[in-house]
Amino acid sequence: MSLVPDFEAIPAFEHQSWQQQLSTAWRSASELLKRLQIASDEVELANSEFPLLVPESFVRRMRPGDPLDPLLRQVLPIGAEEVHSNGFVSDPVGDLASRRAPGLLQKYVGRALLIATGTCAIHCRYCFRRNYPYQEEPRTLEDWQPALDTIRADESLTEVIFSGGDPLMLSDRRLHQLCTAVDQIPHIERLRFHTRLPIVLPARITQELMSNLSDLRAQVMIVVHANHPAEVQADCEDSLRRLTQSAATVLNQAVLLHGVNDSTAIQAELCRRLVNIGVLPYYLHQLDRVNGAAHFETPLQQGPQIVEGLRAILPGYAVPRFVQELPGESSKTLMERPEV
Ligand SMILES: *Cc1c(COP(=O)(O)O)cnc(C)c1O
Ligand code: SF4
Repeated sequence: MSLVPDFEAIPAFEHQSWQQQLSTAWRSASELLKRLQIASDEVELANSEFPLLVPESFVRRMRPGDPLDPLLRQVLPIGAEEVHSNGFVSDPVGDLASRRAPGLLQKYVGRALLIATGTCAIHCRYCFRRNYPYQEEPRTLEDWQPALDTIRADESLTEVIFSGGDPLMLSDRRLHQLCTAVDQIPHIERLRFHTRLPIVLPARITQELMSNLSDLRAQVMIVVHANHPAEVQADCEDSLRRLTQSAATVLNQAVLLHGVNDSTAIQAELCRRLVNIGVLPYYLHQLDRVNGAAHFETPLQQGPQIVEGLRAILPGYAVPRFVQELPGESSKTLMERPEV
C-alpha cells in the first residue's frame, strides 16, 4: 500500500462541489504562507481562538509573495490582534441586548434578523460577530419555532434578514425549510440574505439554490460582502452574474479597512466592478470596534472623504452610503463629512 496520498482521486478544485471546497479550505496560517510563497519570518502570526479559515478560491485571487496583499490581510491572524486597545470590546454593536427570541435579533422597525447559522466559509479578522455565542442559537426547524412564532405574531415586521454566520452555509435543504417557513408568514414582504459566500466560495451559488430562491413568494434581496476589487473577478464574477440574472435585488456592503481598501481609488474600482455586473453598492461601514481588530480602524473623517471622492467621479447609484452602527440607534447612522 502506498503512503503517498492519491492526488489523482481529488478532483481539480474547479470541479469540486462547494462542500468539498469547504473541506479543503486553508486552516493553517503557516501552510497558507507557504502556498503563497511568503517566508514565515516576513509576518508575525497570532495564536487566535478565532482560527484562520479561507477557501482556495479566495486564495487564488491573492498576489503570491506579498504579505500585505489586501485579501490576505483580511484573513491572516497577525500579532497586532493580540494588542489590547481601549474601546474595543466583545459585542461592539449591542447584538445581545437586541435578542427577541433564540436566534432572532431586532434593532430596527419592520425588519428582524435571524442568526441562521454560526458558521462561515471564511474567517474575516475584523468580524464584529467573532465572539458571538453561536452555540446558544437554534439549529433544527423545531428549535426555530419560538423565533418563527415571534415573527408570525408581530405584523409590524415586513422583512426577515437571514444572517449569521453565513446563511448560505446551510445545506440547500435546510435553507429551503427555513425560508419556506418564513415565506409562509403573510405579512413578510421581503426575505433578505446577508452573505459573503458568493464572494468567497462562488461554487455555493448552485442551480438548486437559485431555483429555491425563485420559488419564494416574497421579494428576495441579497446583500453580498466584498471589500476590495481583487475579490470581484473570475469565479466570483460568474456567481454574482448568476444572482443578478435572477429576480433578486443584489447589493454589496463593504467595511472600510486600514491597509486593505482605505482609498478613493480602490473603492472606486470596487464600485465600478460591482455595478458593471449589476450589483449596487449599498453600505460602506466604519469598522465596528471588536477586540482584536484595532489595527484595521480608519480615522472617523476618512470614510466621508472617500465617499465624497466617489460621488465626484461615479454615477449616483454606484456610490455607497458611509454608515456606522451605534448601539441603541433606530437605524445605521449616516456619517457625513463634517462642515468646515
Ligand atoms: C444592520 C442590521 C439590519 C439592517 O439594517 P438596514 O439598514 O435595513 O440594512 C437589521 N437588523 C439588524 C439587527 C442589523 O444589525
Ligand atoms: S463572512 Fe461575515 S459573519 Fe463570517 S466572518 Fe466574515 S464578516 Fe464575519
